[in-house]
Formats: sequence, structure tokens, C-alpha cells
Amino acid sequence: MRLILLGPPGAGKGTQAHRLVERHRIVQLSTGDMLRAAVAAETEVGLKAKDIMAAGGLVPDDIVIGIISDRIEQPDAANGFILDGFPRTVPQAEALDSLLKSKGLKLDAAVELRVNESALLQRVEARVAQMMARGEVVRIDDTPEVLSKRLASYRTSTEPLVHYYSEKRKLVTIDGMMTIEEVTLEINRVLAAILAADRPVKKVSRKSAKKVAAAKRESVPARSAKKAVGKVKKPLVKKAKAPKKAARKATKAPKKAAKPASKGKTTKSAKKPAKKAGRVVKKAAKSAKKATKKRAKR
Ligand code: AMP
Repeated sequence: MRLILLGPPGAGKGTQAHRLVERHRIVQLSTGDMLRAAVAAETEVGLKAKDIMAAGGLVPDDIVIGIISDRIEQPDAANGFILDGFPRTVPQAEALDSLLKSKGLKLDAAVELRVNESALLQRVEARVAQMMARGEVVRIDDTPEVLSKRLASYRTSTEPLVHYYSEKRKLVTIDGMMTIEEVTLEINRVLAAILAADRPVKKVSRKSAKKVAAAKRESVPARSAKKAVGKVKKPLVKKAKAPKKAARKATKAPKKAAKPASKGKTTKSAKKPAKKAGRVVKKAAKSAKKATKKRAKR
């Protein structure tokens, strides 16, 4: 899974990124963390970025694009990553697109955490207090003055990315004013839906489609062969029996037919009217004779 987390400073990107890392076993790539490490290590990049960061400005695109390009290539990013704090400008987003394209990778979603600006100062103050309580080094850009500059650069440079990813149908907007737990649940719910919607397309269009097609090619003839065998076997038996039965019927039939013919069943019925007719004729002849005798006597 490859994600982008979008949101102003204090929106909770870092917290949610940690949770997503655990859930999806992917790495969190935070350009802010990488730049801070570079500043601490006093590398060439660190030296260039130090003052810009301290003032709440944006480090030049070519520097951050270079950092991300190298980082994505690392083996631990092969399973997926969450980009936290990158891209921050449209040119960075375009560079990311071509970077992913050149590597044959796809972005799953850009998750925007939307928050009320009025709540951000309180959140950042709370974060500073917690870091101090834990004895951690507080970020030099976590002051009210620098925060307002960072917010301004978010509005002018980064917010256009909401439109950018919306156009690409990659944008997922989450209400960042909910509790941390609720935000996590909502992100998980939306990402699960994205993964589920993607799964059939990926599987069917790539590997599985080929496997299913191959399985069909093999199994369909096999199944139809089985069916055919089943069907052929029965008809064969039937066919083999059928002629016998038919033959028996055929041999019996003439016998039956011959019987009535020889025993005169049909002739009986035929003879009856003939006999009757004969009797009628004889009677008529007798009565005719009687009548002529009577006439002669007279
Ligand atoms: P963050 O930890 O993401 O709030 O970043 C801290 C600071 O690092 C920012 O205020 C910027 O000065 C710098 N920075 C981090 N990521 C970028 C980026 N993608 N483009 C430019 N500057 C960045």
C-alpha cells in the first residue's frame, strides 16, 4: 500500500502514520524527520535546510524530491510506504507521479486530515508540553510564531494538492477533529474499501485472470469430458439395452399380432355380423316361402 498523508501542522499526520505502519507493515517516510536528521548530522542537505526549517519555510523542491527518490528505492519500502509531509507542493506531487510511474508503482490514496485552524495552535502547544514532559528535544519550529508561518505555507503551497489528488480520484478526506481513535477507525474503514475495490481489478486483470483463464481451459474440457463420459456411458448402456428391448418387443409383437390373427380374434368379430346377416337372410327366405304357400292355398 502506498499512501500520502496530507494536512496542516498539528493535524495528526505523524500519529496516524505510526498506526498505519503497524497495521499495513509499511514504512513511514517523513521528509520532516529526514531533514531534521540531516540538520543534526550537518550534511550538505542539512546545512541547506536548517535555516529554512527554523523559519517555517519550505525546503526547495529539488532537495526533498532527491531525498524521497533515494528513500523509496530502499528495500524496506518495497512493501509500501506512507509519505508524511511529502509532497508539499504541486511540483513535488508531479515529481512523485513520474517517480512512481518510472518504477511501475501505483499510489493507493492521498489521505487528507481536515482540521479547524483554530484547534491547531492548541494541539501544537499540547505536543510541545508532552515532549518536554518526556524530556525530548522540542522542535525549534514548534512555536506560535513559526507555526503561523508553517500554516501560511500550507495554505498557499500544500492545500492545492487537495484539488490535485481529487482530480486524480485519489483523495480521501477524513475529519481530523475527531478523536485519534475515531480518525484511525475512519482511515482504516476507507482504506479497507479502497483495497477491496482494487483487489478484483488487480487480481482479475493481472495474475488471477491468467490463472483463472488457464484453469478454465484445463478444467472445462476435463469437466465436460467427465460429463460426456457420464452421459455417454448411460446412453451406451441404454442404447445397448434399447435394441434388445426393441428386438424383444419386435419379436413379441408379431407373435401377439399373429396370435389374434391365427386364433381368429379379429375374424370372430368379423364373422358375427356375417352370421347374423345369414340368419336374417334365412328367416326372410322362410317367411317368403310361407307367404307364397298361403297365397297358393287361397
Ligand atoms: P514537518 O515535520 O513535516 O512538519 O516538516 C518540518 C519542516 O521541514 C517543514 O516546515 C519544512 O521546512 C521542511 N519540510 C518537510 N517536508 C518538506 C517538503 N516536502 N517540502 C519542503 N519542505 C519540507
